[in-house]
Amino acid sequence: MAPFIHFDQVTKSFGPLRVVDNLDLQVAKGEFVSLLGPSGSGKTTILMMLAGFEHPSHGAIWLDGTRIENLPSHKRNMGVVFQNYALFPHMTVAENVAFPLVMRGVGKGEAGERVARALDMVRLAHLKDRRPAQLSGGQQQRVALTRALVFEPTVVLMDEPLGALDKQLREHMQLELRDLHRKLGLTVIFVTHDQSEALTMSDRIAVFNRGRIEQLDTPEGIYDRPRTRFVAEFIGETN
Ligand code: ADP
Repeated sequence: MAPFIHFDQVTKSFGPLRVVDNLDLQVAKGEFVSLLGPSGSGKTTILMMLAGFEHPSHGAIWLDGTRIENLPSHKRNMGVVFQNYALFPHMTVAENVAFPLVMRGVGKGEAGERVARALDMVRLAHLKDRRPAQLSGGQQQRVALTRALVFEPTVVLMDEPLGALDKQLREHMQLELRDLHRKLGLTVIFVTHDQSEALTMSDRIAVFNRGRIEQLDTPEGIYDRPRTRFVAEFIGETN
């Protein structure tokens, strides 16, 4: 079967710095794939290229059989969640979640219904009239997630989405995310430098080192059979 997402020999350089080096990565529809590696290994840049905020220096990116590396980001139908949720502070929760729909020209009535359904699903309906500053970190994160899902994207990109949360909340959100992924059949690319998070959540993990994949495998494969010394040492590190 053709892959749903395919980085086809993608290189990205910033000046003399080669940040992503001849990447070949294939992801199937509905998969949850984590990009795991130390800071500076190129994970965010890969996500940026998939989202359309950066463009490859060389190579092609395919989504569902179409080349997308030059497609503007708003035409890629991807939901994006970053660590610093970046909710609009002057808007209510409901207005924040409605924003991507409004941007896409969805009418007010329909947008309202979809927002209400989405907020119900993540159990935030009772907070819909609050502003972000009146929410806890975990609640803000759930609003950001809802905003990324409300327009029913085919792919969701997450960059350290749980990094700012305390341990207990993070574990709770990990379960919720897995649940949403399964329920909605989403394809998720999840960036983290936290090995235990990647091991818990992913169908497969790509371990990165200096812009290259050291190993692409199931969590069991990565944990039980590290293929390089780098992977063994990185996975062995405690948080
Ligand atoms: P990671 O997400 O694994 O921490 P990044 O993709 O953010 O790694 O960064 C990889 C490298 O690329 C880093 O050395 C970073 O400084 C560099 N880099 C990222 N974006 C830019 C940019 N816009 N201009 C110049 N260098 C960049």
